[in-house]
Amino acid sequence: MSGFTEPPKKALGQHFLHERGVIDKIVLAVDPRPGDAIVEIGPGQGALTLPLLAKHGALTAIEFDRDLLAPLAAAARDVGELTLISGDVLDVDLTALAAGRRIRLVGNLPYNVSSPILFHALAHAAAIRDMHFMLQKEVVDRMAAAPGSKVYGRLSVMLQAYCRVTPLFKVPPGAFRPPPKVDSAVVRLVPRADAEIGIADRARFAAIVRAAFGQRRKTLRNALHGVADTDAITAAGLEPGLRAEQVDVAGFVRLANLPAA
Ligand code: SAM
Repeated sequence: MSGFTEPPKKALGQHFLHERGVIDKIVLAVDPRPGDAIVEIGPGQGALTLPLLAKHGALTAIEFDRDLLAPLAAAARDVGELTLISGDVLDVDLTALAAGRRIRLVGNLPYNVSSPILFHALAHAAAIRDMHFMLQKEVVDRMAAAPGSKVYGRLSVMLQAYCRVTPLFKVPPGAFRPPPKVDSAVVRLVPRADAEIGIADRARFAAIVRAAFGQRRKTLRNALHGVADTDAITAAGLEPGLRAEQVDVAGFVRLANLPAA
């Protein structure tokens, strides 16, 4: 009998996966290999945890909802070695958790905090080998968008600068209990090596991207006022009359890498 007695908590984004076909596809996409250090964000009632554990033998999972911890540990007992971390993933130092290895992150993420979780993961990208996340499809579309697309924005540039972003497949609301109001999708993120990223000052890069898209209808010249001047924009090979949504990731990197005036 399942020991999960609490109803799903909306505030924690609890939409539990129940469709076997979708769960199998995620496990197949992750494709755990011997020696992998897998860390799951938000194991919930174990929909992904238990199949991953059955395949891989060991797993660490970070869960905010304390009510889920004991029943999850009980469900995992005969399946494999589950290490549970109780708390908010945003408070977990993923680099310290990796302890010199490169972890593989997996999660059907709580949609209400998915962007902060993505940025938290980016901050620890050097300690991460890859990530497989279920997110709102609309968020995955934004993450993978190309310049010129209506949904190309800060999330696209920040994610693509640091990771290769590959949308894998769409998941309908009926795969979850309770069903969310939106379509979902699974995405793979593979952090790039430092040399490939080529960003000299990450804080400067983040500030420029934030300013450029903060007022996305404005031209670069106006949106970046006080952050980068027209000469710098031109020196980066960009037209000051462009809008941010027309600038590719490499353009933002060139601009951020110019010596400060
Ligand atoms: N993995 C399960 C599944 O696929 O059925 C649950 C997915 S549910 C969409 C998201 C899970 O993340 C819930 O178990 C929720 O309690 C947990 N969660 C929400 N916010 C969290 C946070 N800040 N840190 C860690 N876990 C969180």
